[in-house]
Amino acid sequence: MAWLRLCRHLTRKRNSSGFIMPEEMQQALIERGDDKGRCRPLEVCMSEFDTQVVGILGTGDFSRSLARRLVATGYRVVVGSRTPKHAVALFPEEAEVTSQLEAASQADVVFVAIFPEHHSTLLELKTALAGKILVDVSNSSQIMRAGPSHAERLADMFPESFIVKGFNTISAWALQTGSRDGSRQVFLCSDSSKAKSTVLAMCRRMGFCPVDMGLLTSSREIENLPFYLFPSWGTPILITLILFIFFYLYNFVRDIVHPLVKAKKSVFYKMPIETVNVTLPSVALVMLALVYMPGLLAALVQLRRGTKYDRFPIWLDKWLSKRKQFGLCSFLCAAMHAIYSLCLPMRQSARFRLLNDAFKQVKEGVEDAWSDEGVWRMELYVSVGIIALGLLSLLAITSLPSVADNINWREFSFIQSTLGYCALSMATVHTLLFGWDRAFDPSQYRFLLPPTFMVVLILPVSVLLVRLVLLLPCIAQQLRQIRRGWERSRHIRFILPNDDRVTGFDNVSHV
Ligand code: NAP
Repeated sequence: MAWLRLCRHLTRKRNSSGFIMPEEMQQALIERGDDKGRCRPLEVCMSEFDTQVVGILGTGDFSRSLARRLVATGYRVVVGSRTPKHAVALFPEEAEVTSQLEAASQADVVFVAIFPEHHSTLLELKTALAGKILVDVSNSSQIMRAGPSHAERLADMFPESFIVKGFNTISAWALQTGSRDGSRQVFLCSDSSKAKSTVLAMCRRMGFCPVDMGLLTSSREIENLPFYLFPSWGTPILITLILFIFFYLYNFVRDIVHPLVKAKKSVFYKMPIETVNVTLPSVALVMLALVYMPGLLAALVQLRRGTKYDRFPIWLDKWLSKRKQFGLCSFLCAAMHAIYSLCLPMRQSARFRLLNDAFKQVKEGVEDAWSDEGVWRMELYVSVGIIALGLLSLLAITSLPSVADNINWREFSFIQSTLGYCALSMATVHTLLFGWDRAFDPSQYRFLLPPTFMVVLILPVSVLLVRLVLLLPCIAQQLRQIRRGWERSRHIRFILPNDDRVTGFDNVSHV
């Protein structure tokens, strides 16, 4: 009853945006002085801030989601349609749905939410849109490599308006659900810095992260963005697949074809799990070595040239920029190898093999099958493998932009470089422990092919050896100097900041 009395006491009213408010709440809480020193309610100031009228041309999916978002953010929204009467029911009641001309005349910022093929139908609004900001949200139907972008064409059609390209990478769904669900980045570009700042501020208010892409010439790139499917992943994924096919075929020939040819024994059941499980760690280790190899090549190139100012060959540049993707592919293979390995004892074949071995040993009168060497080998092999996977997981997590943003450069390079080399070393030791003494067993050279682990180890062992050579003080010192700007071909005095000693090498360089 007390609640009902309170409700009756508070006379309810609708505010301008349609929400119901008690009368007391409609009064200004804080007051501000006007030019003559009199107080003005804060509500007035807020409404001044909010009076920016945002227009949307078009009443499709994008327009409806955008209108909802803008209304929720506090903007006054005017939607322009060719048939306003039909469209009005689709929009929130706070948004005004009217003719295109009316919307263009009222708004300060106008979103053009119609397909680019129909931009020319807006030419009759030219006068109404003069001096206003037009936001082109359109996407192409295919990737554009040459010619003007849709935004540039729109700018040609409306030379008296200020064109801003953006919001095309945000889906109608993301607009509706807000910035929580989906990408928060909105790429914007314009030739008018004022227009761009206005849209940047709107974007921020709507809860998105604007990314300034510069002048309108960037609009083609922005329009092409939705077509890119993992642009930097092509080569790493291709190399992962090639390595997987190579090692799978290699293991297939050694482990399945060889017993069939030599002993007429069919072991094709190994194909889905055992062969895959030997292939995955091989790919993981080679891919991990490929993460660190370009850095070493870059160091060797710099040492050979005696300068860091010459550009690396393009292939090396590209390789260096894709190390993260190589690392993540390696992590994926290593993680799958761990899961496969855990599942090995679950298989029927493993149980049968275990039983058969047990029967065989009983038949042969073996009472204690315990082998110290075998036990130690397996304990070490599993333990080092777990450490390697743990380190790889750390590398993968810190390569995520959200995590990398929260650590400083020193921490990032410590994890990616120092711990990365630790991961590579551990994975190499894991493979060596798997191999144990098999490299010296002639029966392992099936069809004269060396065991897989020996082929796999070539690259990581070479990378680790080169790394050790580069750590030698005389080489490391020279590399450090080169990376701080020292050049062999110039006569300059060069002393490292923390180095009081002046060695001949530090002091003068020779042509
Ligand atoms: P849509 O649902 O087909 O709506 C397009 C609207 O354009 C129509 O509702 C129509 O509204 C209006 N229009 C104006 N003149 C037109 C004409 N001459 N012929 C046909 N329609 C005309 O399209 P949409 O999905 O909202 O996409 C609109 C724009 O946003 C496109 O450029 C698209 O590339 C871009 N975009 C869309 C999304 C998305 O998720 N949907 C995401 C990013 C960007 P009236 O009939 O009321 O005038």
